[in-house]
Amino acid sequence: MKTILLLIAAVIMPLSAADRPFGLVLHGGAGVIDRTALTPAREAEYRAKLTEAREAGYAVLERGGTALDAVIAAIVILEDSPLFNAGKGAVFTADGTCELDASIMDGRTQAAGAVAGVKRIKNPITLARSVMEKSSHVMLAGEGAEKFAQQQGFAFVPNEYFHTEHRRQQLEAAKKKAAAKKTAALETQADRAARYGTVGCVALDRAGHLAAGTSTGGMTNKRFGRVGDAPIIGAGTYAHDATCAISATGWGEYFIRVGVARDIAAQIEYRGTPLKEAAAATLAKVAALGGDGGVIGLDRAGNLTMPFNTQGMYRGWRLSNGTEGVAIFASP
Ligand code: ASP
Repeated sequence: MKTILLLIAAVIMPLSAADRPFGLVLHGGAGVIDRTALTPAREAEYRAKLTEAREAGYAVLERGGTALDAVIAAIVILEDSPLFNAGKGAVFTADGTCELDASIMDGRTQAAGAVAGVKRIKNPITLARSVMEKSSHVMLAGEGAEKFAQQQGFAFVPNEYFHTEHRRQQLEAAKKKAAAKKTAALETQADRAARYGTVGCVALDRAGHLAAGTSTGGMTNKRFGRVGDAPIIGAGTYAHDATCAISATGWGEYFIRVGVARDIAAQIEYRGTPLKEAAAATLAKVAALGGDGGVIGLDRAGNLTMPFNTQGMYRGWRLSNGTEGVAIFASP
């Protein structure tokens, strides 16, 4: 009898704020991660930074902050780290500069903001948020985005701030490979190895709201103002309280063509497909076209998913039910 009463109470009583699940998932890029080249010391650095970002985001949620604030808190730490292909440590374009893309979406209102090809903004994810909150647009690119940043009082850094020797070497290697193959193809195998490191975060707050954000330097040796999926709402980033929050990483051209993030949410919206199944089905579409990468996702009930079809994906997660971890490869 007591159990029945409890069950009835559970059904009719809305979850109180204290009982609602909350948490976040983040990624630091999917790609060719050579286990043998990753020294224990380097691996420890990645794990420590992923943990630091995860804990910063989780702390925001724990004290009742918004999913949006948690996403920003986690991504800023990853952008500031030279380990990842976002902010400092971004990959180089063919011209030897860094051009950064970022986007953010609020699942509560479906408001969104994005910037593409910015060269002097230390934390592009914060500019994406300003586009969402302070402009009447969703996406600003290049010089215009920086003009907007200036008006908003953003501090500028020289492009050299983003440069690292490691990425310089990857550019040289990618150029040599491309020249040897006599191809102007955007992506060679060497580029693919050098590409990983995009960062992203999805979060669910105590009020039951979702948010997603993604930030990247794009692809090594990119040319002609190339923009990937990361700043494209519906491709690299998507959040809607009714379905899920998604951030993607991988070969951007394919993720744009599949409309990855929105495709996952659409399956949930139209068919009630569980998040995990939906994400796997969408990644299979990317693979069928010849692309690779991964996504992280979180739904309103606190279910998470982190599939990838590359060697590895840097990732971290922590939920209020006690589930937590950081991982790089498919098997730990
Ligand atoms: N998706 C990013 C892009 O194509 C790169 C990555 O995630 O590795 O710009």
